[in-house]
Amino acid sequence: MKILILFSDTGGGHRSAAEAIISAYNLHWPGQFESQMVDFLNKCIPPPLNRGGNLYRPTVNSASWLWGFLWRFTNHPYPYRYGTRMMARLGQRRMRALIVAEKPDVVVSVHPLANHLALSVLATIHPRIPYVIVVTDLFSAHRTWYHPKADLIVVPTTGAYDLGLQYGISPERLKVTGLPVHERFLEEINISKVEMKARLGLPTDKPVVLLISGGEGMGPVFSIAQAVAHSGAALHLVVIAGRNAGLKAQLEKTNWPVSTTTTGFVRNMHEWMRAADLLITKAGPGTISEALISGLPMILFDYIPGQEEGNVTFVVETGAGRMVPIPVGVGETVYRLLQPSNPELQRIAQAAQQQARPLAARDTADLIAQVAMKSMSRVKVREEKAE
Ligand code: UDP
Repeated sequence: MKILILFSDTGGGHRSAAEAIISAYNLHWPGQFESQMVDFLNKCIPPPLNRGGNLYRPTVNSASWLWGFLWRFTNHPYPYRYGTRMMARLGQRRMRALIVAEKPDVVVSVHPLANHLALSVLATIHPRIPYVIVVTDLFSAHRTWYHPKADLIVVPTTGAYDLGLQYGISPERLKVTGLPVHERFLEEINISKVEMKARLGLPTDKPVVLLISGGEGMGPVFSIAQAVAHSGAALHLVVIAGRNAGLKAQLEKTNWPVSTTTTGFVRNMHEWMRAADLLITKAGPGTISEALISGLPMILFDYIPGQEEGNVTFVVETGAGRMVPIPVGVGETVYRLLQPSNPELQRIAQAAQQQARPLAARDTADLIAQVAMKSMSRVKVREEKAE
């Protein structure tokens, strides 16, 4: 069975979800599925607009109010209709060529902007190829995720499920599995933190504080790193700058008052999370879901307006973390949580683990396969009747 997964590198979460689904096929059904990931913004939207995704980081980084405004504005029915039609018109020719060339048995989308475009093309060339949407926003999902023509919409939480109902999706087309997270986050669970710290070349005698801000390294990461480094707590600081080359360079040329590791985009986040004792992050759905599976207590310092607002409420209300929006406050919270006599860190870690959905990738992969198989057997019956 051939699976075509549409994603784009706006942030890191869409790629991570796609890779998690593919890894579930390879792990649980080896050799049975052939899956391919395509960055549809790059491949299907004509240049120079196909580089529009590159505007995502500067917008959310430097003008998050503008992003919040655009998110809300396009979530209204009229701008939504106009915007999605424009997108479909721009990308139709290349999307058609992609689907004709790949001949998938099922198309899966892990990106909200792919849906209207891909479904409008499928309707004209292959109406029987099923289409599954895997929503990668936890609670405040944009309406572009909920396309009524999708055969199935897989959502990470009951909050996202209820939102689907509000957008008019019928309950039988909605399924809750959790956000797909790569199963290597589970594989390392039996390795002790000390062992993992040693593997990564980190000191084994101090708590490790891990600072990440999504795939793009956005927001006041540098100020927070400074505040944590000067907090007075005995710790080792790890800062992952993601694809933000400017931030990486700034981190590298700084003299830190505590032992510090800085790096750009990493491919082994599961190891860094396993080694860490405390995570500081923006409220990205991918990072939060991975931290929950890793039982890693977290401090949130920021969120992207619109799509990440509900994540903050979730983390704070479940006790899986704290929200501290000011860098100096983050430093103070780190100092307090790392005091050996403070049981708070352990309590937060337990609360985080209780919210984890470790089987989400496998369940999502299974649901996609079921939808595809149902459609393939329907086609077969029709062909047999016709003969
Ligand atoms: N990530 C990664 N390497 C990095 C930085 C981030 O693999 O150096 C991954 C991270 O593990 C998560 C995703 O990128 O899976 C970030 O997703 P999230 O939803 O948290 O934020 P986004 O980047 O989409 O805004």
